[in-house]
Amino acid sequence: MNKSISRRHFLATTAATGAFVTLHPFSAMAQTNQAHLRILSTTDLHVHVHPYDYYADKPIDTVGLSRTASIIEEVRAESTNSILVDNGDFLQGNPMGDYIAYERGMNEGDMHPVMQAMNVLGYDCGTLGNHEFNYGVDFMDKVVKGAEFPMICANFVKSLGSNAGKDDTFLKPYTILERDITDGSGKTHSIKIGLIGFLPPQIMNWDKRHLEGKFNARDILQAAKGWVPEMKEAGADIVIALSHSGISSEPSFEGQGNAALYLAGVDGIDALVTGHSHLVFPSEAYADTDGIDLAAGTIQGKPATMAGFWGSHMGLIDLMLERSGDEWRVVTTESSARPIYERVDRTNIPLVEDVQMVLDATRDVHEETLEYIRRPVGMTDTALHSYFALVADDPSVQIVSQAQTWYIEQMMQGSEWEGIPILSAAAPFKAGGRGGPEYYTDVAPGPVAIKNVSDLYLYPNTVRAVLINGAQVKGWLERSASIFNQITAGEQDQVLLNPEMPSYNFDIMDGVTYQIDLTHPPKFNRGGEVINAGSNRIVNLQYNGAPIDPDAMFVVATNNYRASGGGNFPGTGDTIIFEGPDTNRDVIVRYIVEKGTINPQADANWGFAPVPDTSVIFETGPAGIGYADSVEGVNIEAAGEGADGFALYRIQL
Ligand code: MN
Ligand code: MG
Repeated sequence: MNKSISRRHFLATTAATGAFVTLHPFSAMAQTNQAHLRILSTTDLHVHVHPYDYYADKPIDTVGLSRTASIIEEVRAESTNSILVDNGDFLQGNPMGDYIAYERGMNEGDMHPVMQAMNVLGYDCGTLGNHEFNYGVDFMDKVVKGAEFPMICANFVKSLGSNAGKDDTFLKPYTILERDITDGSGKTHSIKIGLIGFLPPQIMNWDKRHLEGKFNARDILQAAKGWVPEMKEAGADIVIALSHSGISSEPSFEGQGNAALYLAGVDGIDALVTGHSHLVFPSEAYADTDGIDLAAGTIQGKPATMAGFWGSHMGLIDLMLERSGDEWRVVTTESSARPIYERVDRTNIPLVEDVQMVLDATRDVHEETLEYIRRPVGMTDTALHSYFALVADDPSVQIVSQAQTWYIEQMMQGSEWEGIPILSAAAPFKAGGRGGPEYYTDVAPGPVAIKNVSDLYLYPNTVRAVLINGAQVKGWLERSASIFNQITAGEQDQVLLNPEMPSYNFDIMDGVTYQIDLTHPPKFNRGGEVINAGSNRIVNLQYNGAPIDPDAMFVVATNNYRASGGGNFPGTGDTIIFEGPDTNRDVIVRYIVEKGTINPQADANWGFAPVPDTSVIFETGPAGIGYADSVEGVNIEAAGEGADGFALYRIQL
């Protein structure tokens, strides 16, 4: 596609909207020899070109470059001079990305839909994120070759040099755009805009199988200090860092993944586009981070932005530049992030419309992706349902646990934690409750399609591993067991479940065996506070057929919500040893694709401790009746109708 033609087309479209445009104050106020330069940025698009949730197989208003592109039109019109950049993590992260990688493939000369969209929109520069390596370096290289703009990265290297700045980088470490810029009096001057890109060096662990022995990653700060002086020597008037790296106030260390705070302190860097954390900057999310001035939108005094994820926001940095002699310098700055939707009363209201050109340019791939998500990618020998997930070991949770264990095993290889036993914690997300009597996972035996995976894993969580001891494992399970009411021995039809407790806080742990003694009161309340310190519901907790050693260490695979303290579980909050960049959902898809046929038969590794002459009742979806007999390790019988369309079941403890 010819860039100048597509650009002209874009500008014509902009003019055709005829919207009344208010100039940004920098553009309105600029004097002779002053110029307003606006940097527009996207980050962490993860192949979200169309406003479509391919897992749910329905349109959605919270994602899509076609929506973000509307903001591009707006903000370009508000400023005299602008450039548009992307900050990485563009080629993986939704089924469209998987479709290209696993099905259609990238042959030499093929265009990737994200590149197609970016070319149409006239991007000026892009960098790599950590996810660009998920499908291998050859794949990434072919995608990047489609860019009709410079693609840069200063710290992904073919080989490390004697020092930073001497590395043999895979892409050009930086680029210097020579542009005409219009000043406040309407005169044009030339300016050299330097751009340099960085990614988290952790790619060497996360995509070890693609990178080990062939490539390397340089520390972000080292790379910056190595290359920025060269950019200044080459005449860059300003230097903008494309930092596919988040903002964290943890102390600086070599190999730091979220290094934007310290990168901002590097001499010569004037502004930072950040990302990787899937958050928004400036925003209250960073109210407590040292070195940040939220009102000014700066990190260590440098303007910065982070544009959310999946196209949710457009990042904006506004620079008022002043010219003296032949050189430009930054005098005033502003930064912000503009959303594509707002949330009102639990509903997402779109704030922009689609840019049709972006949809048109990628329509074929979108339609092929729809076929792909509806087509089987694997087989299951077992029905994957959650009707009895709260009362017995269950295939819908088992598949999640198996995929997490499979993934974390790979990630622990070669790490200091290799060899430590791996357990996996997962909870049923779709288990009736306030969702109603149809709100259950239910995938029949046979073919599994990608869209079924959203049914198995509802939330876009990312994988984490924590390192905890046997006592914490028991505490974790005690916390889970607070979903059950206390049961009196010898009484019949006692209500089993506490309706106040959401199912997502009922973690099952795979890799250990245990029983829950319901005759004791719960140790924890709904908020995770200890209410009965002396009570122990978890009994016969065993690892490898022997009682668990309270001091023995375990790696537990889980998600970011739980690992960071969600639900207030013992052993979480400060025990994270591994932060996976992958969503649990992607891990499940990969597991199914790679295994071909899965058999997540529940292994009844947990159950209720027997209580003679005692029964409990609980509600589940009426469609569960067909599965009641096949649930292992517990005797479930129908007990009539429940409330609000639910069905009642009985268990003889
Ligand atoms: Mn990302
Ligand atoms: Mg199990």
